[in-house]
Amino acid sequence: MSLGQSALVGIGLLLTGIVIVLLVRASLRFAHASNAHLVPELEQRVAERTAELAREKHNTETLLRVLGEVSASLDLDRALNRTLALLNEVIGAEQGSILLINAEDNTIHYRAGYGYMMPSITGGAKPTTLKIGEGLAGWVIKNRQAALITDVRQDERWMELPVKSPYQRNVIAAPLAVGEDVIGVIMVFHHTTGFFTPENMNMVQAIGSQVAVAINNAQLYELIRDQAERLGNMLRNQQVEASRQKAILEAVADGVLVTDANNEINFVNSSAEQILGLKAETTIGQSLDNFVGLFGKATQTWTQTIRAWSEDPTSYQPGDTYAEQLNLENERVVLVHLAPVIWRNEFLGTVSIFRDITHEVEVDQLKSEFVATVSHELRTPMTSIKGYADLLLMGAAGALNEKQTHFLEIVSSNTERLSILVNDLLDLSRIEAGRVSLSLQPLDLREVAESAMGEVTRRSQVEKKEMDLKLDAPPDLPRVYGDLERVHQILSNLLDNAYRYTPEKGHIIVHLEKVEGEVQVDMMDNGVGIAPEDQGRIFERFFRGENPLVLATPGTGLGLPIVKQLVNMHKGRIWMKSTGIAGEGSTFSFTLPLYQAKE
Ligand code: ADP
Repeated sequence: MSLGQSALVGIGLLLTGIVIVLLVRASLRFAHASNAHLVPELEQRVAERTAELAREKHNTETLLRVLGEVSASLDLDRALNRTLALLNEVIGAEQGSILLINAEDNTIHYRAGYGYMMPSITGGAKPTTLKIGEGLAGWVIKNRQAALITDVRQDERWMELPVKSPYQRNVIAAPLAVGEDVIGVIMVFHHTTGFFTPENMNMVQAIGSQVAVAINNAQLYELIRDQAERLGNMLRNQQVEASRQKAILEAVADGVLVTDANNEINFVNSSAEQILGLKAETTIGQSLDNFVGLFGKATQTWTQTIRAWSEDPTSYQPGDTYAEQLNLENERVVLVHLAPVIWRNEFLGTVSIFRDITHEVEVDQLKSEFVATVSHELRTPMTSIKGYADLLLMGAAGALNEKQTHFLEIVSSNTERLSILVNDLLDLSRIEAGRVSLSLQPLDLREVAESAMGEVTRRSQVEKKEMDLKLDAPPDLPRVYGDLERVHQILSNLLDNAYRYTPEKGHIIVHLEKVEGEVQVDMMDNGVGIAPEDQGRIFERFFRGENPLVLATPGTGLGLPIVKQLVNMHKGRIWMKSTGIAGEGSTFSFTLPLYQAKE
């Protein structure tokens, strides 16, 4: 390197050194100067942050107080007014109001206000009815968004009152939202434009959410209270109605006994107490089964029917009712009508109505006795009339001309009819008066049926009315317990009807079969049948059908009533079936209890 070059390098180094020194000094000076600025700045920022924290603390406290107020009070108006008061206090607002949506007409209604005491703006506190979307409140609700308006007079969303309020210039409005729903709007006002800060808006929004929850809770509470009140009223009305019905049931002269679905006695009125000889207080709540012994054997079918319906409500057919005359052990005769209580296909229990017919039965018995006596007294003169008429016809008093013979024949046949009637009447009235007793013994029904059928066969031969009679019975048919003469009478009477009301060349089948504890007799014919409208009456005294074959056949209408009484006396049952179509005939069935060796 030449000297010149070395000098240049040296100058270069010197210059570089000077520059570095200058830079270091400058930077030292700068650092000193910035340190001097930093301290007050930091201090200021700390002070600002402290103030901010204090405000936040205050805000949080306010929020907590609002929360406390609105959640502690069930009085919504008080809570809302307190909230607005607190809010005004915290953010320095002069007025505050809460507007809510009315669910019925979807309009916005004024609900609470604070700071409206100033006389010049009382108009602003009047209830408002804005539609959703109308005015600032409507805008906030529709857009679900808070708004801070520096000066309402510059904002087109603001709907000015007819009298402009000098106090409502600066406004914050925040939605009251619960979940997805906006239920109203909270608003605060100040007369100075630009008074409120965005921070105030956050505060109003935060309080708005709390208020919304509180309002929602209060509305739910009101709804629940209303419903509870309504339910309470309904219950009270039902209780009143139930008491009224109970009073009616209590007042009726007939005995009423109600059982529930579990066969427990639910209600007994005072007439039932008297008739059945019970006390309501020891009866209600007890199972009906506990009283079977008390009521006696006669009530077995009644209690069994109730039990069957309770255990299997499907066994009940619509329209099924049960009626029976019960001879109670306390000597009373009671007519019981039983019906199930079904509500919306549910079996709720049964109602039994009892009527004490002891007196009626006694009167009826007296009447039967009277008829029995009269019929008995009529028999003697009738026998002699018929006897003498027959004697005259036989020529015992000399020869008769044709006319005399004809007249005497009429006398004789009518006396014959009359004596049948008197005999039937005597029979029935004696049975009804309880003057007929049965001499029960084991009976082979097949033998009795064969004998009765033999009589009809002979009659058909004499009258030359061809009839096909058939007995259908198993060889091992068990014996029944009955009175031979009376069981024969039952079978003869039914066979006689089948023969008389079936045209020539008809068929009669007598079918015998053991069914549970009884033997069932079915007597089927293919005669004229019985019209459905007559079927309910054929066991009534003196009832006779209108069929031409019936009208042409002499009869008294007393045969079936006698048969029914006799079957009942044997503790059997009797019923009939017929389509009412001529040629399809009828089937009369009855049962007799099986003979049990130990009896
Ligand atoms: P009667 O036979 O004397 O008229 P019943 O009491 O025996 O009286 O019968 C009453 C009525 O029942 C009869 O008049 C008749 O209309 C009807 N009836 C009874 N049995 C039969 C039958 N097997 N077929 C058709 N109708 C019958």
